[in-house]
Amino acid sequence: MQDIAQYNVNYIRTLFKKYYSSNFVSSPIAIESREVGIGELGKKISARHLSFKNLDELNAFLRTTAPFFVSYSVGYYRHPGMRPMEKKEMFASDIVYEFDADDFSLPCMNEHDVWYCSNCQTSGTGHKDICPNCQGKTEIIEWVCDKCLGHAKSETLRLMDFLEDSFKLDPNTFFVSFSGSKGYHIRVTDKSVQHLSKSSRLQMTNYIQGKDIELERLGFAFKDRQWYCPPKNSLGLSGKLLLFLKNYITTMTEAGLIKDLGLTKAKARKVISNKEVILNKMDNNILWHGFSKDAKGDAKFWEDLLNLAISKICFRIDASSSMDIYKLMRMPDTLHGGTGLLSCHIKSREDLKSFEPLCDAVVFREDISRKIEVTRPVPKFSLMGQSFGPFEVSQTAELPEAVCVYLLLKGVVK
Ligand SMILES: [Zn+2]
Ligand SMILES: [Zn+2]
Repeated sequence: MQDIAQYNVNYIRTLFKKYYSSNFVSSPIAIESREVGIGELGKKISARHLSFKNLDELNAFLRTTAPFFVSYSVGYYRHPGMRPMEKKEMFASDIVYEFDADDFSLPCMNEHDVWYCSNCQTSGTGHKDICPNCQGKTEIIEWVCDKCLGHAKSETLRLMDFLEDSFKLDPNTFFVSFSGSKGYHIRVTDKSVQHLSKSSRLQMTNYIQGKDIELERLGFAFKDRQWYCPPKNSLGLSGKLLLFLKNYITTMTEAGLIKDLGLTKAKARKVISNKEVILNKMDNNILWHGFSKDAKGDAKFWEDLLNLAISKICFRIDASSSMDIYKLMRMPDTLHGGTGLLSCHIKSREDLKSFEPLCDAVVFREDISRKIEVTRPVPKFSLMGQSFGPFEVSQTAELPEAVCVYLLLKGVVK
């Protein structure tokens, strides 16, 4: 990322100050027990171990300093401002889960992410670490679009259901926010998780990721050359896997079987022609076999299908981040210094469903436009329901203030 000129830093700081002067940050829970960290451009945490007695004190601080990033701890401390860490005396800790748009390697990444070689000014879409023209090191500039942000949102909603369902957590204790950049955070503040030990947290994380699943314990067993499945109406993960298998068998297609499970055309056809038999047998706790000459082939079919089920039912979460009880997370209702967007606290499931980050998180909406000069290739992108770009290097444009701030903070214009 290029350096942002000081006059632009000052300009954005003034906007941030103005924002904090007219908006009260009220979402953080138990601010008196949290460690707060702040960051500058290019460094999300440049100072930590800050603490505030109450929200008024926090807001007074934000109004005067207007940091580019504000984070607060997952943990609750008796003395959040003391250091080193041991002196803070942690007495509880939330658990957080993060979903970022770029975690899923969706095809849109290759449409909107850009690589750029500052040495020979060559660029292209997608990810290339080495410039094909001069073999120099490239910069990768990542973007988000409605598709990948939408995927991060649907995974957030799905995990909320999973947490409620699998661990019987109270959904009213799920504190959801847009990160202000690429995705969503769920902070679980349920009393039953706040005192969990490290190993219990690890077990919970493994379960969510579908790691170390013992199929036999869930009722899927391969015995005497025969697969058995749990009874219908099974609860928990057993029930979820069984339901996935049933839905898959009900709606399976030849192309799908070939793509998902690597079956040959002939085998795929055989499975499809036995659809009713397979479904009936499942209701009697038996996983059909008979398209393969040897039991091993049948075993592999169900094993592969169960693995597919696990990958669809479980989640790709960053385990180290969910395990870290000392972590500082973006504070909701504060501005993100990499985009200028608001890290919105999203109060309900319904609000999350209708939340449009590239619209709803835009705050600098005064009818002002500014001139910018493009310094890195910019793909077509959308903000406030309008689309902008693409722009080439050296191109100038006059754009709405929120768009200028977004591009300046992304380091692609001056
Ligand atoms: Zn080059
Ligand atoms: Zn995308």
